[in-house]
Amino acid sequence: MPIAEPIYLDNNATTPLRAETIAAIQQAMGPPANPSSVHSFGRQARLHVEDARQALSVLVGCQTQDVVFTSGGTEANNLALSGFSNVITSAIEHDSILKAAPQASLLPVTGDGVVDLAVLKQIVTMLPANQREKTIVSVMAANNETGVIQPLAEIVEIARDGGLATHSDMVQMLGKAHIDLATLDLDFVSFSAHKIGGPSGIGALIVRSGMSLTSLLRGGGQEQGRRSGTENLLGITGFGAAAVAAFGDVAHHRQMAGWRDDFEVSIGAARPDVVLFGTGMPRLGNTSCFAIAGKASETLVMALDIAGFAVSAGSACSSGKVTASHVLTAMGAGEKAAQAIRVSGGWQTRKEDFDRLAQVVAGL
Ligand code: PLP
Repeated sequence: MPIAEPIYLDNNATTPLRAETIAAIQQAMGPPANPSSVHSFGRQARLHVEDARQALSVLVGCQTQDVVFTSGGTEANNLALSGFSNVITSAIEHDSILKAAPQASLLPVTGDGVVDLAVLKQIVTMLPANQREKTIVSVMAANNETGVIQPLAEIVEIARDGGLATHSDMVQMLGKAHIDLATLDLDFVSFSAHKIGGPSGIGALIVRSGMSLTSLLRGGGQEQGRRSGTENLLGITGFGAAAVAAFGDVAHHRQMAGWRDDFEVSIGAARPDVVLFGTGMPRLGNTSCFAIAGKASETLVMALDIAGFAVSAGSACSSGKVTASHVLTAMGAGEKAAQAIRVSGGWQTRKEDFDRLAQVVAGL
Protein backbone atom coordinates (compact mmCIF):
# COMPACT_ATOMS: atom_id res chain seq x y z
CA MET A 1 0.00 0.00 0.00
CA PRO A 2 1.84 3.19 -1.10
CA ILE A 3 1.96 6.04 1.39
CA ALA A 4 0.02 9.15 0.36
CA GLU A 5 2.83 11.66 -0.39
CA PRO A 6 5.96 10.18 -1.95
CA ILE A 7 9.03 11.05 0.10
CA TYR A 8 11.86 12.49 -1.95
CA LEU A 9 15.25 11.26 -0.76
CA ASP A 10 17.30 11.78 -3.93
CA ASN A 11 18.61 15.25 -3.23
CA ASN A 12 22.15 14.56 -4.43
CA ALA A 13 20.57 14.17 -7.88
CA THR A 14 18.57 17.38 -7.60
CA THR A 15 16.58 19.30 -5.01
CA PRO A 16 13.10 20.83 -5.04
CA LEU A 17 13.04 24.57 -5.77
CA ARG A 18 12.83 26.65 -2.63
CA ALA A 19 10.00 29.13 -2.15
CA GLU A 20 12.65 31.88 -2.04
CA THR A 21 13.99 30.77 -5.44
CA ILE A 22 10.56 30.76 -7.03
CA ALA A 23 9.72 34.19 -5.58
CA ALA A 24 12.98 35.71 -6.84
CA ILE A 25 12.53 34.26 -10.33
CA GLN A 26 8.93 35.43 -10.49
CA GLN A 27 10.03 38.89 -9.49
CA ALA A 28 12.65 39.05 -12.25
CA MET A 29 10.45 37.45 -14.92
CA GLY A 30 8.93 39.45 -17.70
CA PRO A 31 10.82 42.59 -18.59
CA PRO A 32 13.45 42.47 -21.32
CA ALA A 33 16.57 41.49 -19.45
CA ASN A 34 19.91 41.71 -21.15
CA PRO A 35 22.38 42.75 -18.44
CA SER A 36 24.73 44.17 -21.08
CA SER A 37 22.19 46.76 -22.22
CA VAL A 38 22.83 50.27 -20.94
CA HIS A 39 19.18 51.31 -20.66
CA SER A 40 17.17 50.99 -17.46
CA PHE A 41 15.92 47.47 -18.27
CA GLY A 42 19.48 46.31 -18.80
CA ARG A 43 20.68 48.00 -15.63
CA GLN A 44 17.90 46.31 -13.62
CA ALA A 45 18.93 42.94 -15.05
CA ARG A 46 22.58 43.69 -14.22
CA LEU A 47 21.56 44.36 -10.60
CA HIS A 48 19.96 40.91 -10.37
CA VAL A 49 23.11 39.27 -11.76
CA GLU A 50 25.47 41.15 -9.46
CA ASP A 51 23.29 40.52 -6.39
CA ALA A 52 23.44 36.82 -7.14
CA ARG A 53 27.20 36.94 -7.68
CA GLN A 54 27.55 38.64 -4.32
CA ALA A 55 25.28 36.10 -2.57
CA LEU A 56 27.26 33.13 -3.88
CA SER A 57 30.62 34.72 -3.08
CA VAL A 58 29.54 35.39 0.51
CA LEU A 59 28.23 31.82 0.90
CA VAL A 60 31.53 30.27 -0.21
CA GLY A 61 34.01 32.91 0.96
CA CYS A 62 35.50 34.02 -2.35
CA GLN A 63 35.98 37.36 -4.10
CA THR A 64 32.82 38.50 -5.88
CA GLN A 65 34.68 39.09 -9.15
CA ASP A 66 35.98 35.50 -9.11
CA VAL A 67 32.48 34.08 -9.77
CA VAL A 68 31.86 33.08 -13.40
CA PHE A 69 28.31 31.91 -14.05
CA THR A 70 28.03 28.81 -16.23
CA SER A 71 25.23 26.53 -17.40
CA GLY A 72 25.81 24.22 -14.42
CA GLY A 73 28.34 22.06 -12.65
CA THR A 74 29.12 20.14 -15.82
CA GLU A 75 30.18 23.23 -17.72
CA ALA A 76 32.09 24.57 -14.70
CA ASN A 77 34.07 21.33 -14.50
CA ASN A 78 34.79 21.29 -18.24
CA LEU A 79 35.79 24.94 -18.13
CA ALA A 80 38.18 24.44 -15.20
CA LEU A 81 40.09 21.74 -17.05
CA SER A 82 40.00 23.32 -20.48
CA GLY A 83 43.37 25.06 -20.32
CA PHE A 84 45.32 22.01 -19.15
CA SER A 85 46.83 19.25 -21.27
CA ASN A 86 47.53 17.06 -18.25
CA VAL A 87 44.94 16.26 -15.56
CA ILE A 88 45.42 14.35 -12.32
CA THR A 89 42.07 13.43 -10.84
CA SER A 90 40.42 10.68 -8.83
CA ALA A 91 38.68 7.53 -10.01
CA ILE A 92 35.48 8.59 -8.20
CA GLU A 93 34.83 11.93 -9.90
CA HIS A 94 31.61 12.86 -11.63
CA ASP A 95 31.52 12.08 -15.36
CA SER A 96 31.81 15.78 -16.15
CA ILE A 97 35.43 15.48 -15.01
CA LEU A 98 36.18 11.94 -16.14
CA LYS A 99 34.78 12.45 -19.65
CA ALA A 100 36.28 15.92 -20.00
CA ALA A 101 39.72 14.46 -19.32
CA PRO A 102 39.75 10.93 -20.73
CA GLN A 103 43.58 10.78 -20.63
CA ALA A 104 43.77 11.84 -16.98
CA SER A 105 45.90 10.03 -14.40
CA LEU A 106 43.33 8.51 -12.05
CA LEU A 107 44.07 8.39 -8.35
CA PRO A 108 42.80 5.25 -6.65
CA VAL A 109 40.69 5.42 -3.50
CA THR A 110 40.66 3.34 -0.33
CA GLY A 111 37.85 0.93 0.53
CA ASP A 112 36.27 3.83 2.40
CA GLY A 113 36.29 6.00 -0.71
CA VAL A 114 39.11 8.39 0.19
CA VAL A 115 41.72 9.43 -2.38
CA ASP A 116 45.10 7.75 -1.90
CA LEU A 117 47.42 10.62 -1.01
CA ALA A 118 50.58 8.50 -1.34
CA VAL A 119 49.81 7.82 -5.00
CA LEU A 120 49.12 11.53 -5.60
CA LYS A 121 52.48 12.40 -4.03
CA GLN A 122 54.23 9.84 -6.20
CA ILE A 123 52.64 11.07 -9.44
CA VAL A 124 53.39 14.70 -8.59
CA THR A 125 57.00 13.95 -7.68
CA MET A 126 57.62 12.01 -10.88
CA LEU A 127 56.08 14.65 -13.16
CA PRO A 128 58.71 16.10 -15.56
CA ALA A 129 59.40 19.78 -14.88
CA ASN A 130 58.31 20.85 -18.37
CA GLN A 131 54.80 19.40 -17.80
CA ARG A 132 54.03 21.13 -14.52
CA GLU A 133 52.72 24.37 -15.94
CA LYS A 134 50.08 22.54 -18.00
CA THR A 135 49.03 20.12 -15.23
CA ILE A 136 46.04 20.49 -12.92
CA VAL A 137 45.04 18.40 -9.91
CA SER A 138 41.24 18.12 -9.73
CA VAL A 139 39.63 16.31 -6.81
CA MET A 140 36.01 16.64 -5.68
CA ALA A 141 35.27 17.93 -2.18
CA ALA A 142 32.61 15.31 -1.44
CA ASN A 143 31.41 12.37 -3.47
CA ASN A 144 27.89 12.39 -4.87
CA GLU A 145 27.27 8.66 -4.28
CA THR A 146 28.83 8.00 -0.88
CA GLY A 147 29.02 11.53 0.55
CA VAL A 148 32.64 10.82 1.58
CA ILE A 149 34.58 14.05 2.10
CA GLN A 150 38.04 14.19 0.59
CA PRO A 151 41.16 15.51 2.40
CA LEU A 152 41.23 18.58 0.19
CA ALA A 153 43.70 20.68 2.20
CA GLU A 154 46.30 17.88 1.99
CA ILE A 155 45.58 17.31 -1.71
CA VAL A 156 46.05 21.00 -2.47
CA GLU A 157 49.26 21.11 -0.44
CA ILE A 158 50.75 18.19 -2.39
CA ALA A 159 49.75 19.80 -5.70
CA ARG A 160 51.19 23.16 -4.66
CA ASP A 161 54.48 21.59 -3.53
CA GLY A 162 54.73 20.30 -7.10
CA GLY A 163 53.87 23.72 -8.55
CA LEU A 164 50.56 22.50 -10.03
CA ALA A 165 47.23 24.22 -10.53
CA THR A 166 44.25 23.03 -8.46
CA HIS A 167 40.53 22.53 -8.97
CA SER A 168 37.78 21.07 -6.83
CA ASP A 169 34.27 20.02 -7.82
CA MET A 170 32.34 21.26 -4.77
CA VAL A 171 28.93 20.69 -6.33
CA GLN A 172 27.86 18.27 -3.59
CA MET A 173 29.48 20.15 -0.72
CA LEU A 174 27.56 23.39 -1.27
CA GLY A 175 24.99 23.98 1.45
CA LYS A 176 25.84 20.70 3.17
CA ALA A 177 29.09 21.65 4.87
CA HIS A 178 30.80 24.93 5.60
CA ILE A 179 32.88 26.21 2.68
CA ASP A 180 35.43 28.98 3.07
CA LEU A 181 37.46 29.28 -0.09
CA ALA A 182 39.61 31.98 1.50
CA THR A 183 41.23 29.24 3.58
CA LEU A 184 41.82 26.84 0.67
CA ASP A 185 44.54 27.39 -1.92
CA LEU A 186 42.37 26.45 -4.90
CA ASP A 187 42.57 28.02 -8.36
CA PHE A 188 39.18 26.81 -9.60
CA VAL A 189 36.02 25.57 -7.84
CA SER A 190 32.75 24.32 -9.38
CA PHE A 191 29.21 24.79 -8.04
CA SER A 192 25.70 24.02 -9.26
CA ALA A 193 22.44 25.71 -8.23
CA HIS A 194 20.05 22.78 -8.44
CA LYS A 195 21.73 20.97 -5.56
CA ILE A 196 20.73 23.74 -3.12
CA GLY A 197 17.14 24.45 -4.09
CA GLY A 198 18.02 26.60 -7.10
CA PRO A 199 17.13 25.95 -10.74
CA SER A 200 18.97 23.45 -12.91
CA GLY A 201 20.97 24.69 -15.86
CA ILE A 202 22.88 27.26 -13.84
CA GLY A 203 26.15 26.94 -11.96
CA ALA A 204 29.40 28.74 -11.39
CA LEU A 205 33.11 28.34 -11.70
CA ILE A 206 35.13 30.29 -9.17
CA VAL A 207 38.33 31.44 -10.83
CA ARG A 208 40.98 32.79 -8.53
CA SER A 209 42.04 36.34 -9.49
CA GLY A 210 45.03 36.34 -11.77
CA MET A 211 44.45 32.78 -12.97
CA SER A 212 44.21 32.53 -16.72
CA LEU A 213 41.19 30.70 -18.09
CA THR A 214 40.71 29.09 -21.48
CA SER A 215 37.11 29.91 -22.36
CA LEU A 216 34.92 27.21 -23.84
CA LEU A 217 32.40 29.68 -25.24
CA ARG A 218 33.63 32.65 -27.19
CA GLY A 219 31.48 35.45 -28.43
CA GLY A 220 30.14 38.59 -26.80
CA GLY A 221 32.67 38.55 -23.97
CA GLN A 222 30.19 38.35 -21.07
CA GLU A 223 31.44 37.41 -17.60
CA GLN A 224 34.56 39.50 -18.26
CA GLY A 225 35.38 37.49 -21.35
CA ARG A 226 35.46 34.25 -19.37
CA ARG A 227 32.09 32.87 -20.51
CA SER A 228 30.37 34.39 -23.49
CA GLY A 229 26.63 34.28 -24.04
CA THR A 230 23.81 36.49 -22.75
CA GLU A 231 23.50 35.72 -19.06
CA ASN A 232 20.77 33.30 -17.94
CA LEU A 233 19.11 35.97 -15.88
CA LEU A 234 16.34 33.87 -14.35
CA GLY A 235 18.72 31.04 -13.55
CA ILE A 236 21.28 33.37 -12.00
CA THR A 237 18.58 35.18 -10.00
CA GLY A 238 17.28 31.85 -8.71
CA PHE A 239 20.81 30.71 -7.87
CA GLY A 240 21.39 33.89 -5.88
CA ALA A 241 18.16 33.46 -3.89
CA ALA A 242 18.96 29.82 -3.21
CA ALA A 243 22.47 30.79 -2.07
CA VAL A 244 21.06 33.27 0.45
CA ALA A 245 18.59 30.66 1.75
CA ALA A 246 21.30 27.98 1.86
CA PHE A 247 23.07 29.78 4.70
CA GLY A 248 20.86 27.93 7.12
CA ASP A 249 21.37 24.57 5.48
CA VAL A 250 24.67 23.58 7.08
CA ALA A 251 23.11 23.43 10.54
CA HIS A 252 20.18 21.44 9.12
CA HIS A 253 22.60 18.99 7.49
CA ARG A 254 24.54 18.63 10.72
CA GLN A 255 21.33 17.62 12.42
CA MET A 256 20.46 15.34 9.51
CA ALA A 257 23.72 13.45 10.05
CA GLY A 258 22.20 12.17 13.30
CA TRP A 259 18.98 11.05 11.55
CA ARG A 260 21.04 9.40 8.83
CA ASP A 261 23.24 7.62 11.41
CA ASP A 262 20.15 6.36 13.25
CA PHE A 263 18.75 5.17 9.92
CA GLU A 264 21.93 3.20 9.19
CA VAL A 265 22.04 1.67 12.67
CA SER A 266 18.39 0.73 12.35
CA ILE A 267 18.63 -0.98 8.92
CA GLY A 268 21.91 -2.68 9.93
CA ALA A 269 20.24 -4.10 13.05
CA ALA A 270 17.14 -5.23 11.13
CA ARG A 271 19.03 -6.87 8.29
CA PRO A 272 22.40 -8.59 8.50
CA ASP A 273 22.57 -8.50 4.67
CA VAL A 274 22.96 -4.69 4.62
CA VAL A 275 26.41 -3.41 3.60
CA LEU A 276 27.07 0.27 4.26
CA PHE A 277 29.64 2.31 2.33
CA GLY A 278 31.96 5.06 3.55
CA THR A 279 30.75 4.97 7.14
CA GLY A 280 34.23 5.11 8.68
CA MET A 281 35.04 8.46 7.07
CA PRO A 282 33.90 12.05 7.35
CA ARG A 283 30.75 12.20 5.20
CA LEU A 284 28.08 14.63 4.13
CA GLY A 285 25.33 14.39 6.75
CA ASN A 286 22.58 13.83 4.18
CA THR A 287 23.93 10.80 2.34
CA SER A 288 23.67 7.07 2.97
CA CYS A 289 24.94 4.56 0.44
CA PHE A 290 24.22 0.90 1.07
CA ALA A 291 23.64 -2.44 -0.63
CA ILE A 292 21.41 -5.34 0.30
CA ALA A 293 23.38 -8.44 -0.59
CA GLY A 294 21.95 -10.26 -3.58
CA LYS A 295 19.41 -7.59 -4.56
CA ALA A 296 20.09 -5.55 -7.72
CA SER A 297 19.95 -1.82 -7.18
CA GLU A 298 17.25 -1.31 -9.84
CA THR A 299 15.03 -3.81 -8.04
CA LEU A 300 15.50 -1.96 -4.76
CA VAL A 301 14.87 1.44 -6.29
CA MET A 302 11.68 0.19 -7.93
CA ALA A 303 10.46 -1.53 -4.75
CA LEU A 304 11.05 1.66 -2.77
CA ASP A 305 9.37 3.75 -5.45
CA ILE A 306 6.27 1.59 -5.15
CA ALA A 307 6.46 1.99 -1.36
CA GLY A 308 6.52 5.78 -1.83
CA PHE A 309 10.21 6.69 -1.59
CA ALA A 310 12.35 8.28 -4.31
CA VAL A 311 15.96 7.15 -3.98
CA SER A 312 18.57 6.37 -6.60
CA ALA A 313 20.76 3.52 -7.74
CA GLY A 314 24.45 4.29 -7.87
CA SER A 315 25.09 6.42 -10.90
CA ALA A 316 22.02 6.60 -13.10
CA CYS A 317 22.80 7.27 -16.75
CA SER A 318 20.73 9.84 -18.60
CA SER A 319 19.11 7.04 -20.60
CA GLY A 320 17.68 5.70 -17.36
CA LYS A 321 19.77 2.55 -17.69
CA VAL A 322 21.62 1.81 -14.48
CA THR A 323 25.16 0.49 -14.62
CA ALA A 324 27.39 -0.64 -11.75
CA SER A 325 28.65 2.40 -9.89
CA HIS A 326 32.18 3.38 -10.94
CA VAL A 327 32.60 4.97 -7.52
CA LEU A 328 31.86 1.77 -5.60
CA THR A 329 33.85 -0.28 -8.12
CA ALA A 330 36.86 1.98 -7.42
CA MET A 331 36.29 1.34 -3.71
CA GLY A 332 36.60 -2.38 -4.33
CA ALA A 333 32.92 -3.16 -3.76
CA GLY A 334 32.89 -5.87 -6.46
CA GLU A 335 29.39 -7.15 -7.23
CA LYS A 336 27.95 -4.87 -4.53
CA ALA A 337 28.67 -1.96 -6.91
CA ALA A 338 25.56 -3.05 -8.83
CA GLN A 339 23.50 -3.57 -5.68
CA ALA A 340 23.92 -0.23 -3.98
CA ILE A 341 21.38 2.49 -3.52
CA ARG A 342 21.83 6.05 -2.42
CA VAL A 343 19.55 7.85 -0.03
CA SER A 344 20.12 11.60 0.16
CA GLY A 345 18.22 14.21 2.15
CA GLY A 346 17.87 17.88 1.33
CA TRP A 347 16.81 21.22 2.73
CA GLN A 348 13.20 20.00 3.03
CA THR A 349 13.97 16.59 4.60
CA ARG A 350 12.68 15.75 8.08
CA LYS A 351 13.73 13.13 10.61
CA GLU A 352 10.56 11.12 10.02
CA ASP A 353 11.49 10.72 6.32
CA PHE A 354 14.58 8.72 7.33
CA ASP A 355 12.66 6.89 10.07
CA ARG A 356 9.87 5.79 7.73
CA LEU A 357 12.36 4.65 5.12
CA ALA A 358 14.20 2.59 7.75
CA GLN A 359 10.98 0.72 8.55
CA VAL A 360 10.34 -0.02 4.89
CA VAL A 361 13.93 -1.15 4.17
CA ALA A 362 13.75 -3.48 7.18
CA GLY A 363 10.70 -5.17 5.67
CA LEU A 364 11.81 -5.44 2.04
N1 PLP B 1 29.62 17.23 -10.06
C1 PLP B 1 28.97 16.49 -9.18
C2 PLP B 1 29.71 15.90 -8.04
C3 PLP B 1 27.61 16.24 -9.34
O1 PLP B 1 26.97 15.47 -8.44
C4 PLP B 1 26.94 16.80 -10.44
C5 PLP B 1 25.49 16.53 -10.67
O2 PLP B 1 25.00 15.47 -10.39
C6 PLP B 1 27.66 17.59 -11.34
C7 PLP B 1 29.00 17.79 -11.12
C8 PLP B 1 27.01 18.20 -12.55
O3 PLP B 1 26.27 19.34 -12.23
P1 PLP B 1 25.11 19.84 -13.22
O4 PLP B 1 23.99 18.87 -13.11
O5 PLP B 1 24.77 21.21 -12.71
O6 PLP B 1 25.71 19.90 -14.57
